[in-house]
This record gives sequence, C-alpha cells and structure tokens, in this order.
Amino acid sequence: MEKILYLTQVEPGGELSSFALEVLSGAGRLARDLGCELAVGLVGAKADVQAAADSVAGCGAAAFLAVTGDEFAVSRHATDAAAFEALARNAEATIVLAPGTSRAARAMPGVAERLNGRIDSHITGTAITDGRPEVERWFYRQRMMARLTRSQRPWLWLVDSGVFDAWEGEAGGATLEALDVPLPELRTRVVGVESPAAEEQTIRPDAELLFVAGAGWTKKQADGSTHVKEAETIIHDFLETTGASLGSSKSLVDQAGEGQEVISFMSHMNQVGQTGSTPRHPKGLATCCHGEEPHVVGWRFIKDRRAVNLDPGCGWAQGKADVLYVADAFEVMRRVNELLKQG
Ligand SMILES: Cc1cc2nc3c(=O)[nH]c(=O)nc-3n(C[C@H](O)[C@H](O)[C@H](O)COP(=O)(O)OP(=O)(O)OC[C@H]3O[C@@H](n4cnc5c(N)ncnc54)[C@H](O)[C@@H]3O)c2cc1C
Repeated sequence: MEKILYLTQVEPGGELSSFALEVLSGAGRLARDLGCELAVGLVGAKADVQAAADSVAGCGAAAFLAVTGDEFAVSRHATDAAAFEALARNAEATIVLAPGTSRAARAMPGVAERLNGRIDSHITGTAITDGRPEVERWFYRQRMMARLTRSQRPWLWLVDSGVFDAWEGEAGGATLEALDVPLPELRTRVVGVESPAAEEQTIRPDAELLFVAGAGWTKKQADGSTHVKEAETIIHDFLETTGASLGSSKSLVDQAGEGQEVISFMSHMNQVGQTGSTPRHPKGLATCCHGEEPHVVGWRFIKDRRAVNLDPGCGWAQGKADVLYVADAFEVMRRVNELLKQG
C-alpha cells in the first residue's frame, strides 16, 4: 500500500501559493484514487506553518507534519533538504509530491539520494494503470512525452505548475505534529530577500494573458529605421494596463549579448520555448515573432493563441495559432493601447 506525502514550504504570512495548492489537489486525488493515506508536510516559521495547515485543514490529510523555525523558513539547501528528509522519513512516505519550485528543485534530488529513493521532475500529469501510479513528463528538449512508472520507493515527484486545479475547501483547525529536526551545519547565511517592485516584475505566472515579443520589434521597419524605444513604450504600456505576463523569443533576448539595441526590461528569464520556459496562461498573443517550431513548442499549454505578423507565411500561419492578424504590430498595439486607455 502506498503512503502519499505532500510537501511544501510555506510563504511568509502563512499563505500557500496557488502553485502549492495545485499540487495539494493532485496529491489528494492520487491518494483517493489509490485508496491510501495522505499526509501533509509543511516547512516554515512556526506561526506561518500553523496558519497554512489551518487553511487546508479540510484537504483529507490523515496527518499534518511540520518542520518549523526561523532557519527553516528561509531558502537554503542544507535546511530545506534536512526538513524534507525528516518529513519523508517520519511519514514513511512511498510517494512524495512537491511543487517544482526552484527551491524544491534544488533540495529534493539530494533528499532522494539520502532516502535511497528516486526522483522525477517536471511532471506534467499523473495516472494510475493496473493500480500502479504513473507520471507524465517530456523528454528530448520537450519533443517527446512519456508516461513512466518506477518500482523504487520512495519516489519523489516535482510537479510543474498548471497541471491540477488549485485545491479549494474548508479551512479549520489542523493538529500539527512538529518534528524536532537538528539544524545541519549552516554555511550559508540568509541576510534578506530583494524582489523587484511589482510593476517591474514582467513574469506573472497567474496572468490571464501571455504577451510574447519577438525580434521583429527591434528590426528595421517600413521606413528603413529601427524603433526600439517606441517598441519598449508600446509593450510597457500594454503590460501595465492589462497585467499580462511578458514572454520573448530567443532571438530577442539573445540580442543583448550581441551588442544590439534591446528592450530594456527583457531578460533570458522571459524566453519561451524549447530552451526557455513553458508557461501555462489561458491565452497567448505573439507579436513580431515568426513562430518557429523551437519557440512554439513552449506554447503547448496555451489554449487560445493569437499572433500579429507582417508575413502571411510565418510559422503561426502553419496551424500554430488560432488567429493570425497579418498586420503591423506597432500599429495594432498602439491602437489596442488607445482602446484600453479609453476603457
Ligand atoms: C536547439 C534550438 C533551440 C531553440 N530554442 C528556442 C526557444 O526556446 N525559444 C525561441 O523563441 N527560439 C528558440 N530557438 C530559435 C528559433 O528557432 C528562432 O530562431 C527564434 O524563435 C526566432 O525568433 P523571432 O521569431 O523573434 O525572430 P525572427 O525569426 O527574426 O522573426 C521576426 C518576425 O517579426 C516579424 N515582424 C517584423 N516587424 C514586424 C511588424 N512591424 N509587425 C509584425 N511583425 C513584424 C517578421 O515578419 C518576422 O516573422 C531555438 C533554436 C534552436 C536551434
């Protein structure tokens, strides 16, 4: 009989991110489908962990385990790995699910090694065949999808975002079982966290729309000149009014390294595609981007796809977009911004 453990770090203030809640509903569903027990394991500051456990008290978990303390609340490999290891051992978990955050992705492989288990990352689906749990993930630079199972236990799963709907249910009073985990040797001191101001943050995973800018924004236009500053203003205004998330093609983000004039708020973090990210917004709008296969492969979870391109034979026209507007993106987006301002 499997024993499922759901693991996550708790946000300061006691919140669980929507990503964390998605994986919780996946863990709950797996436990129900397998007819086995679910335990919840939380890591963070003491008051935060209690608040988080209370907020998901109705998730059907048989136990709420916790590793608490100021040193465990911050992101550090040594403490994260010690906390996860203790939780997995205490729960005697055979399958451990965690949201594939950068923090969990850094600590969990080491935990799998310590537990003599196995780990799979970037899980995009789960299934049960003949009573055996299976995971789905993509291989070969996201060209092939596989469904696989393992006999080794514990089996650790780092799940991608957007795979499950976020858990919703009754809050209540959860009884926390706090584990006493000795602090490992601390070679890293966390002095604080610096985040960009919300309006400077262009990657917004919860946004309804992904707006993708391609290299065309920086290319010579019909008048024979480039208009990069204007492109920057148009894109910035659109993002500000709509709250859309900003994606980019590889060609555009690579230009910084090639010494060309670039969109100043764009970095490699914005790149979508085979060697970039695979966002999961419900809608996507590509502008001045050709729609080459290595780029479009990152769009596979975007349900409603539109593109603006001057070229009627561009990649988007080859069945890769639901709607292609053959038009000048400068003109289109200027007009869209005007209409948005009018409300
Ligand atoms: C192994 C490998 C991995 C790769 N991984 C990625 C990846 O992860 N992500 C990625 O994006 N690429 C990736 N690429 C690169 C990819 O193949 C393309 O080269 C790249 O996506 C092209 O970027 P682009 O469409 O922005 O630029 P371009 O190909 O230069 O296209 C610019 C487009 O802008 C249009 N345009 C110009 N001006 C206007 C205007 N005023 N209005 C409307 N349209 C206009 C043009 O018609 C053109 O279609 C990868 C390539 C390889 C070989």
